[in-house]
Amino acid sequence: MEVHWSDMLQTQPIVSKMVMNSINKGRISHAYLFHGDKGTGKFTLAQLLAMSIFCQERTGVEPCYQCRDCRRIQSGNHPDLHVIYPDGASIKKEQILHLQKEFTYTGLESNKKVYIIDQADKMTDNASNRLLKFLEEPSQQTTAILLTENSQAILPTIRSRCQMLSFTPLQSKRLEEKLQEEGLSLANARLLTAMTNNLSAALEKSKDTWFAQSRKIVVQLIEMLQQNPNEVPIFVHTQWMPHFKERVQLQEGLDLLLLWFRDIVHYHLDESSELVFVQHREKLETGSMQWSLAQVTDHLQEIMHAKRKLEQNVHPQLVMEQLTLQIQR
Ligand SMILES: [Zn+2]
Repeated sequence: MEVHWSDMLQTQPIVSKMVMNSINKGRISHAYLFHGDKGTGKFTLAQLLAMSIFCQERTGVEPCYQCRDCRRIQSGNHPDLHVIYPDGASIKKEQILHLQKEFTYTGLESNKKVYIIDQADKMTDNASNRLLKFLEEPSQQTTAILLTENSQAILPTIRSRCQMLSFTPLQSKRLEEKLQEEGLSLANARLLTAMTNNLSAALEKSKDTWFAQSRKIVVQLIEMLQQNPNEVPIFVHTQWMPHFKERVQLQEGLDLLLLWFRDIVHYHLDESSELVFVQHREKLETGSMQWSLAQVTDHLQEIMHAKRKLEQNVHPQLVMEQLTLQIQR
């Protein structure tokens, strides 16, 4: 897939503008550190920068995508572009040594050389120290691009030699699309997007059976609040509390409950495109008939209040008992 600078400007305007500017002015740094969440386009931008560096037929900053250099970069076999990935769990000293050795020969076709180190935080200490030596003797024509989700795990001495560019988290619409591209249903993608703005965290959660069970229990509690309020105390005691054992778990259960009542607000306001629990429209409709907009707004505040009480070490069971009573009022 061809990604152009104009595409990158849409998703990462700040870093794209900075890099485009340095290409335009012929002031490309010797070393960059791209940091940001998974899925924010670090590798894509690194590859695009490499194309802009090597392409002979560039129009402004935009590479031509047709010439030999462009095509070989896109297919991953350009002789003067090296990409290093973790070998197993880490990036090892030998990989950096190998790179350095390759780079002692002048460029095969030009003097320019570019290397990308993906997941640079996975470098062992030895590899980091080796790279540091390499960065300390920059040749005019070499560009290093380090990519990481965790810039704090990179040696400060390496960081200080790089131009740091921070990739902004995905917009929620984009995250939702990405999750669907990864095979998640719309309903799952939307819920996980509401819970986190990070692709890795969302994917991890999507595989978490505890979380899947949490959703079921939240929906069950709602059903019971709507249909059999008398049974709510027993349900809280026998189902809810045993599942949300730890305080952090209960906080997450309450976050789900918040999203549910927020959905009822959206339902009242006719904002159905905003719904998170898209697969439960009927229950949300029932909820909107049972609770007026004013009541739902109260319930949202009561849930927020319950979350604060949990932080203040009020007994979890007591917090839940009070909350469910308030919601039934
Ligand atoms: Zn080209």
